[in-house]
Amino acid sequence: MTYRFRDLLALEPLSAEELSFLLDQSKPFQEIQKHPLKKLATLRGKTVALAFFENSTRTRISFGAAAARLGADTMNLQAEASSLKKGESLLDTVQALNAMKPDALVMRHEASGAPEFVARHLDIPVVNAGDGTHEHPSQGLLDALTIRDRKGTIENLNVTILGDILHSRVARSNIHLLGKFGCRFTLCCPPMWVPKELEKIGPPGANIRRVTRIEEALENADVILLLRVQTERLHEPAISADDYILLYQLNAARLRLAKPGAIVLHPGPMNRGIEISPEVADGPQSCVLEQVTNGVAVRMAILYLLIGGAADDVPPSRRNPGNPRMLLIKNGRVLDPAGKTDAQKDVFLDGERIAEVGPHGKVGAPPGCEIFDASGLIVAPGFVDLHAHLREPGQESSETIETGTRAAARGGFTAVCCMPNTKPVNDNASVTRFILDRARAAASARVWPIGAASTGSKGEAIAEIGAMKEAGIVAVSDDGKPIATAKLARQVMEYCSALELSVIEHAEDASLAAGAVMREGVTSTRLGLRGMPAAAESVCVARDIQLAELTGAHLHIAHLSAKASLDEVRRAKQRGVRITCEVTPHHFTLIDEDVKYDSRYKMNPPLAAREDREALLAGLADGTVDAIATDHAPHEPALKDVEFDKAPFGITGFETALSLALEQLVCAKLLPLMRMVELFTTGPANVLGIERKIAAGQPADLTIFSTDHPWTFHAAESASKSRNTPFDGRGFRGAPMATIVAGQIVFRH
Ligand SMILES: [Zn+2]
Repeated sequence: MTYRFRDLLALEPLSAEELSFLLDQSKPFQEIQKHPLKKLATLRGKTVALAFFENSTRTRISFGAAAARLGADTMNLQAEASSLKKGESLLDTVQALNAMKPDALVMRHEASGAPEFVARHLDIPVVNAGDGTHEHPSQGLLDALTIRDRKGTIENLNVTILGDILHSRVARSNIHLLGKFGCRFTLCCPPMWVPKELEKIGPPGANIRRVTRIEEALENADVILLLRVQTERLHEPAISADDYILLYQLNAARLRLAKPGAIVLHPGPMNRGIEISPEVADGPQSCVLEQVTNGVAVRMAILYLLIGGAADDVPPSRRNPGNPRMLLIKNGRVLDPAGKTDAQKDVFLDGERIAEVGPHGKVGAPPGCEIFDASGLIVAPGFVDLHAHLREPGQESSETIETGTRAAARGGFTAVCCMPNTKPVNDNASVTRFILDRARAAASARVWPIGAASTGSKGEAIAEIGAMKEAGIVAVSDDGKPIATAKLARQVMEYCSALELSVIEHAEDASLAAGAVMREGVTSTRLGLRGMPAAAESVCVARDIQLAELTGAHLHIAHLSAKASLDEVRRAKQRGVRITCEVTPHHFTLIDEDVKYDSRYKMNPPLAAREDREALLAGLADGTVDAIATDHAPHEPALKDVEFDKAPFGITGFETALSLALEQLVCAKLLPLMRMVELFTTGPANVLGIERKIAAGQPADLTIFSTDHPWTFHAAESASKSRNTPFDGRGFRGAPMATIVAGQIVFRH
């Protein structure tokens, strides 16, 4: 489930589901904190205004760091220097700030409700960074994130709050958040420091009690939340500092009264020796430094959701793992290359797995089970795309994991391998985990990351391939370019051979391809555009085949486009080299003569010669080619809508791949439908060493398609954020009708 937030003013109005969503969204940003290069380009070009009308160092720096790590600029309004001191009203001040066109306003103010007041008058998102004695939502979230990391849950915990509760917005935000997860609260402080009605403000049914003795308060505590004692308030007619220390200080002896694994949180800055003793502050149960780190992650997530990465609209059928369902697919023609099955069968999905496959009418479905009538349709294993660019992290204006996988699902793909040339490059486990966390939060199809072969894909040092494999990569590649040198390619292959990972090569001799914008030939000469010869690809293919032979590694050639490369692969296969290759729909559909200065025809490798296309069609038919892959490469219009020479390489591909294959391969009678299905399913899966078949116990990933449904592709209606396709307006027969991932229908025609 995805939630949209206009502002973040308080935690009180948010539901448990919305709060969980915010915490889940913070996970990927926690991972980024562990990475040596913490900066993403997600909010590049955006500006966050920080208006702190009340002194704060920590929260202001934390929001500033969060904005900077997302690539945003900040504008700072300093309380002391502000015109407020010169008598300007709050509204005039923030409206003047707003006239400088920031994309969000983060504000702290000593008046409770001030952010809400400002939000009513501004059209940009407003984030409350603490208002009076009301709330401090980002602090509540970072505390909950810290608790969830340490305790594994935020449900049904005993939370003890110590300190100046009367003046504490942190306490209120914590009660509003944790109270929705069944936590029980014990408040303890000098009696004049607890507002009398506090028990009544928590969520309905919240369990809040107050006690006066700290020893009693600590009994059975899972979490101890300390609040800063405002030392100046000790001098109000309240209590002396010595008394406070004597009666309420959390020291090591008192901490032993709590549960053995209890944790201690403090929003900082701490008064060591007043509310907390140094040995507790620095002890193993203290989380104060994790809180500071998590604060940046939570604030990155907040800014990301409010300004940048929020979904344009929520997909109609989002996977919902909390709600496993049963689905009977009836009356379809099951085509399963793995089992060589071509028969009328029913398929019963129970949750995330296929439960039963049997003849029509013989598969019993329990009452209440949803029925999908696939009469006249093909039921195939879920399509796998070996080659796509999802652009996140770093180029979210062109695509995100959310929009890219939604386009993939519309194209019938249930799993998408995403190339590592993001910003930062996926060359270490923290970026891999970021991608997978984003995919869990927002993807329609499964996302299988491909890790970089070399650090930064710079071709110098081998990347952290072992750690990335642990984190979940399925193959390695320096795609966008080849692995720079033969020596490095050899080392990568040796390493990947031991790790049982395929090495995917973008085969291109950089010296032969330098400066080229299309394939070298008659057309490039006529157009006066710099061309690269076919040999730019085939020379590199030959190099890598020899290295694969030397190392025993599994080599996969990406987007193979030239006849000479295909001949190399065919010969290598004949002598038993572990080699596979993929071909894109655009290379088996179009040729260099189609180019005509239109940047929607500019991709790398470039469209090849007529005889290359004919060789690819033969290779697709005879089994030399293992997979059809899209090389989906979205670019926002501003990038692509320039002179041919200047435009970046690449076109979108998910939503037209199946229809082009039906048109060019099946309708043209070059190969049978079963073989085409193989090229989208078992073929690519085998490259990754993954099984794909329609059988009981297998993952419930299926692609249901029509071979004759007439339709026209309009790029403007694509789920992708980008429109760079040469197939806009093309009419087709045959299209995906439903895409099922883990038993959920993620796309339905
Ligand atoms: Zn490539």
